[in-house]
Order: sequence, then C-alpha cells, then structure tokens
Amino acid sequence: MHQTTYTVAQRHYMQEALFEADQAAIIDEVPIGAVIVHDDQIIGRGHNLREHANDATLHAEVLAIEEACATLKSWRLEDCQLYVTIEPCLMCSGAIINARIPTVFYGAPDPKAGAVDSLYTTLTDSRLNHTVTVADGLYATEASQRLVSFFKAARKRRKAAKKAQRQAQTTTPESH
Ligand SMILES: [Zn+2]
Repeated sequence: MHQTTYTVAQRHYMQEALFEADQAAIIDEVPIGAVIVHDDQIIGRGHNLREHANDATLHAEVLAIEEACATLKSWRLEDCQLYVTIEPCLMCSGAIINARIPTVFYGAPDPKAGAVDSLYTTLTDSRLNHTVTVADGLYATEASQRLVSFFKAARKRRKAAKKAQRQAQTTTPESH
C-alpha cells in the first residue's frame, strides 16, 4: 500500500533506519538499514554486515529482528513495527513472517530482489497464517539515493583498480 502521509514518529523511525544504512555505507557494506519499534522505543536495529561477517544471512532486517527478539526475550514480535530503507528480500520477508511482525514500513522498492511488492507479494499472501500490513514509500528517494551513490562509488573504485593494474603490468620490466 502506498501511503502518502506519515506521522512525525514514523518519519523519525525511518530516519533512524536511514542512519543505519549510512553506518553500512561507511564500512563499504550495501547501505540498507532497519529498526524495530515496540511501545514507541527502538528495540532492535541493524544494517547489512554480509561482507564483514562473510555471512549471506546478515541483512539489516535479520539483525534487527535478532536484537528485538533478544530484547523482548521472545521470538514473537507481535506488537512491533519494522522500518527498513529498501523493500525486503525473500529471506527477510520470511523472517518477518516467522517473527509475526504485524506492520512493515519500507522506503524504496527493490525491482531485482524485492519480495513484498516487486517480484513476490509474500507479506500480504493470504495463504500464509500471518499477513503483514505494509506501507511503502517513506523516504524512498533518500533510501534509493544511498544505494545509487554506493554502487556508483564501487564502480569507480573497481575501474580505478583495473587501471592501476594495467599500468603496473605495462611498466613492470619483463623478466627473462
Ligand atoms: Zn534481505
């Protein structure tokens, strides 16, 4: 559901998720961030740590869910809201459903991996025993801008590294 008006609190929580995305970018991880809110308090937060941990499962949402479950000492996050900067993937949608999170706000869509609206509609599939209320679009521009500049910088770095490599090859004297 594309929501157009948001409360001050909802904006604040998505800004916190964007802050998490920035923390990922600082350490060269894909800039996606998430927070989980319970009783108007953030009880879990996370950003991508896939590269640093060499762990394919360490997406922002999974880390936020793990922390929230530890905080509440429960695997059920029934009265919680999850805010994430980019549309969740299949794995994260699965985690959201398993944690019974009732409400998800995401910023920008992910046409290549999104499993909430783009490729699949997992969170609102009525065949599952848990369905989620979804609102998309909050700070979408800010969220996707972070991804665009991250990948742009990464491409630039790769290009520069290739160029340096080529130069090193041409200036190295042949050894016979
Ligand atoms: Zn994910």
